[in-house]
Amino acid sequence: VGSISLESILATTDLSTFKSTLESSNCKRCSLCEQDVRIVVSRGALDAQVMLVGEAPGAVEDQCGQPFSGPAGELLDKAFAADNINTKLELYITNVCKCRPIAPEFSGKQNYTPRAEQRRQCLPYLLHEIALLNPSIVVACGAVAAEALFQIKQPKMSQIAGRIIDISVPVLQDKICYVMYHPAYVLHQKRAGQEVYTKARKALWEQILTLKELMYGRAI
Ligand code: SF4
Repeated sequence: VGSISLESILATTDLSTFKSTLESSNCKRCSLCEQDVRIVVSRGALDAQVMLVGEAPGAVEDQCGQPFSGPAGELLDKAFAADNINTKLELYITNVCKCRPIAPEFSGKQNYTPRAEQRRQCLPYLLHEIALLNPSIVVACGAVAAEALFQIKQPKMSQIAGRIIDISVPVLQDKICYVMYHPAYVLHQKRAGQEVYTKARKALWEQILTLKELMYGRAI
């Protein structure tokens, strides 16, 4: 089966067509296509004023075709619901890489962090999504998204999470660029004990509260 060209995908003029075209494109731009995975594009509202960008799909997302569908997605939905924000209606949720990076069995992990070249190859899709959605606020969810999207070198989440970032990426220039924890990071803190987990969870809740203030401050 041939793949649809990058040009054709970037020629789409609405999000719904972009999404279906990319999903069925058989994209081979990076090595993530070598594994038996599907292209997972987005979930949420196609007219949202807030775009949330994660890292890459995991196992559950790859199975059901929607980003943030596994345990991390459940935590995300719950955290937003605590502030009366319905992620289905008020957010457009996507990832830097659209295919799941399956970790080798010996690593003991399920997924690996997408490599720089894989992120670079997938970035035109994300930039096109931003142009089509034209949100007021773009949220990098986790360090990988902050690095890929906001071009922050080796981001220190302890310094940038919960903050607006001043950046010079052309497609983002008229937007509020915000950073928050990835819910998967918060879940991983469970291994360090209840106290550490509770602290990370509280920080995520606070970051979402600040985001809510930004959302309503912009009268959306
Ligand atoms: S991750 Fe992106 S660039 Fe790589 S194969 Fe999937 S859709 Fe294409």
